[in-house]
Amino acid sequence: MILVKDVHKTFGNLEVLKGVSLNVNKGEVVVIIGPSGSGKSTLLRCINLLEVPTKGEIYIEGVKINDKKVNINKIRQKVGMVFQHFNLFPHLTALENVTLAPIKVKKMDKKAAENIALGLLEKVGLVEKKDEYPIKLSGGQKQRLAIARALAMQPDVMLFDEPTSALDPEMVKEVLNVMKGLANEGMTMVVVTHEMGFAREVGDRVIFMDDGMIIEEGTPEDIFYNTKNERTKEFISKIL
Ligand code: ADP
Ligand code: MG
Repeated sequence: MILVKDVHKTFGNLEVLKGVSLNVNKGEVVVIIGPSGSGKSTLLRCINLLEVPTKGEIYIEGVKINDKKVNINKIRQKVGMVFQHFNLFPHLTALENVTLAPIKVKKMDKKAAENIALGLLEKVGLVEKKDEYPIKLSGGQKQRLAIARALAMQPDVMLFDEPTSALDPEMVKEVLNVMKGLANEGMTMVVVTHEMGFAREVGDRVIFMDDGMIIEEGTPEDIFYNTKNERTKEFISKIL
């Protein structure tokens, strides 16, 4: 589903990704952990073409996406992204946040887009909030809305960048539950999170990144309890 081959990313003279290779199978849930500044967000942003790798190749379902000929909008439709700070459209209602891209990008008619959106709002438990603006929603509700919005494009892959780290503790669970539901439905997911419970329960694989590289990867049990690498060990001891 996703193939990342020796990806490098440089900002000015700062090399943020130093040759990352990664393979995500259909239906797999891959959890990425690692210290702040290790390049986790940059890697996700490269997979969604919010950043263009300086070197290396990224394939989504066999299509090389970092290629000048590629239609960026087509790729973004396949790859949904959820951000730490929600990035909702503040001037649009919950329903409009979900219907905007299908109407604008997929040229779906308004009624059809609304029907799909209502189903998705139902799925994330927000149907009764459909006419509210984001400012009226709690953090957990905002993030669930952001998930519904990403799903509206019917992506094949969902990327989550620390989706619960800006939330008050009591709201973390409602967001993780929506994500677990998605995983159980077979969605292919790459999730940057330090939520160990989530990683252990739904993660098929955990990847530890440090300093722009993948240092260690394995099953959640391997990474959390049979850690091999010293840097991984040190990091795990801080989040455990
Ligand atoms: P993480 O998500 O693991 O905390 P990031 O991928 O956000 O790490 O950042 C890795 C490094 O790249 C950091 O040093 C950060 O300051 C730098 N960085 C990220 N985006 C940019 C950018 N657009 N311009 C310059 N430096 C950036
Ligand atoms: Mg980050």
